Amino acid sequence: MTHPHLRLEAEVLELRTTHSFTIARGGRSDYRTIWVRLRDEDGTEGWGEAAPSRYYGETPESVLAALSLYAAALPDDPFDLEGAERRWETVLHGNPSARSALSAALHDLVGKRLGVPLYRLWGLNPARAPQSTFTIGIDTVEVMRAKVTEAEPYPVLKIKLGTDRDLEILRTIRDATAKEIRVDANAAWTEKQAIAMLPVLREFGVTLLEQPLPPRDLDGLAAVRRRATMPVVADESCLTVADIPALVGKVDGINIKLAKCGGLREALRMIAVARAHGLLVMVGCMIESSLGITAAAHVTPLVDVVDLDGAALLADDPFVGTTIAEGRVVLPTGPGLGVRRR
Ligand code: MG
Repeated sequence: MTHPHLRLEAEVLELRTTHSFTIARGGRSDYRTIWVRLRDEDGTEGWGEAAPSRYYGETPESVLAALSLYAAALPDDPFDLEGAERRWETVLHGNPSARSALSAALHDLVGKRLGVPLYRLWGLNPARAPQSTFTIGIDTVEVMRAKVTEAEPYPVLKIKLGTDRDLEILRTIRDATAKEIRVDANAAWTEKQAIAMLPVLREFGVTLLEQPLPPRDLDGLAAVRRRATMPVVADESCLTVADIPALVGKVDGINIKLAKCGGLREALRMIAVARAHGLLVMVGCMIESSLGITAAAHVTPLVDVVDLDGAALLADDPFVGTTIAEGRVVLPTGPGLGVRRR
């Protein structure tokens, strides 16, 4: 039997960042994400957002194509969240951002049907959500100084490195602010470069180092971690729960993103497995609207480090959801994800 109760609709969202957003792999200011809506027979709608990344093999077009296949595998019972995520993975493997949008939409729908926010459905205390970082993309000295000013509500900054002017970038940010600084090299350094950077990072007071080396260089990550004075966190090396065992003993933590792992339940599994191994848990995002950010934000009471600034970097966020107050993630109190159109 197919899906007599649920209907799926998908719409491309054109998003623009305030500044061109550049990391070690390149940059731009125009982004396309996909707004997914699941409607039940009573007219209740659950929403989710897919933020496809070419780096992980997805485009807006591939998401739309994948969704048309997943549409034929919608659950008869929307409360069968676990079964639905399993089935989508079987119908078409990969396509994690497309599946994560469906997962978020189904969780949103169930929360709305029950009249409770998702964090309450999971038994989480929203006051436990940590502070969020604000990311300063690679830019000219002048623009980076302006970005530090714009990041005023955020107590912690994340700096993108992995360029031939890393030292200048660090110095520019450090001269502009006394805030805590974390660094993300986005897989751009070699083991030798990363080890040479460690004393520099220490001198500038960097408190966390994300993905210094290419994703598969786990022994290199271990060598960097042995010499590092700050935690080393895997992002590009850790997509799903299956990646965690190989990282144990080689990094201090993992960065979970819905667009990499494929769904909210997979994110919860990753948190549990990382905890079992004593790993620090971070939750991050792509450039996406407050819809996708808020879906990820519902897991934040369970994590140590939050990097959910994707919507804050937008010039024209089409949704209202999670906000930041005194640097902390504030979850919306409406049912489901608690997101509405702006
Ligand atoms: Mg990262």
